[in-house]
Amino acid sequence: MQDLIERAAQAIRRARKTIALTGAGISAESGIPTFRDPGGLWDRYDPEEYATIQAFRSDPAKVWRMMKDFTELKTAQPNPGHYGLAQLEQMGMLHCIITQNVDNLHQAAGNRDVIEFHGNMRQVVCMSCRKLLPLDEISLDTLPPYCSCKGVFKPAGVFFGEPIPVDAMYRSQEAAQSCDLILVIGTSAVVYPAADIPRVAKESGAQVIEINPEKTDLTQRISNFIIQEKAGVAIPQIVAAIKAMAS
Ligand code: NAD
Repeated sequence: MQDLIERAAQAIRRARKTIALTGAGISAESGIPTFRDPGGLWDRYDPEEYATIQAFRSDPAKVWRMMKDFTELKTAQPNPGHYGLAQLEQMGMLHCIITQNVDNLHQAAGNRDVIEFHGNMRQVVCMSCRKLLPLDEISLDTLPPYCSCKGVFKPAGVFFGEPIPVDAMYRSQEAAQSCDLILVIGTSAVVYPAADIPRVAKESGAQVIEINPEKTDLTQRISNFIIQEKAGVAIPQIVAAIKAMAS
């Protein structure tokens, strides 16, 4: 394992432009369940039934009740994996993060360039006037919450059946095509179009390094190698190895 940590550290040191694609796995150590974790939110609520825009339109209060129950989202704090990526950015060794997560934890850890591919569930957006507000600033005493314009507030994450925000789509494509190293962290790479980003990077000549305790669909086809370890363990080790190489 130490060999692979050092290989990753070398690759980051040598790269001209490194980007990261993150998924639910990087926030697992912050207590936010992935789709696959047993006993998590998604065991109680079927994402097909609660996370589609059709479900929201037909019964917004029902989806909001699920959101109120998603207490992990409100209380979670960044973990050493998030902080390690923030350090890489501060060291000038990480250009941006494309995240599929909706939990705001990369920003909370200090990363400044975070492309939110699936929006942000810690914000709400009015379905009529598109006003965007922090979730903490609206009352959830009666559901669904309404905007002053009488439109319904929706969590600002991208629901299944909704398009990816145009700006996030455009910036991600541009980053994938122009990087020469992509770190793919904590994603099973099955939700498209996000799952296509490592392939686009690879075809543009980038190296692909995965950090994930489990192999994924990318591991054999796309990745140069995988560090089979938790993000909260592997990323701080990579940062430490880079610092040791520089000294
Ligand atoms: P996923 O649940 O499909 O896969 C999670 C991946 O993380 C798996 O491959 C798993 O092996 C890996 N993993 C588990 N623990 C890990 C750890 N400690 N370190 C590194 N990797 C670990 O998640 P996905 O690929 O992101 O796709 C799910 C979709 O669900 C995304 O669209 C995302 O928006 C959404 N989602 C987001 C959150 C969040 O914001 N935190 C949580 C759940 C789901």
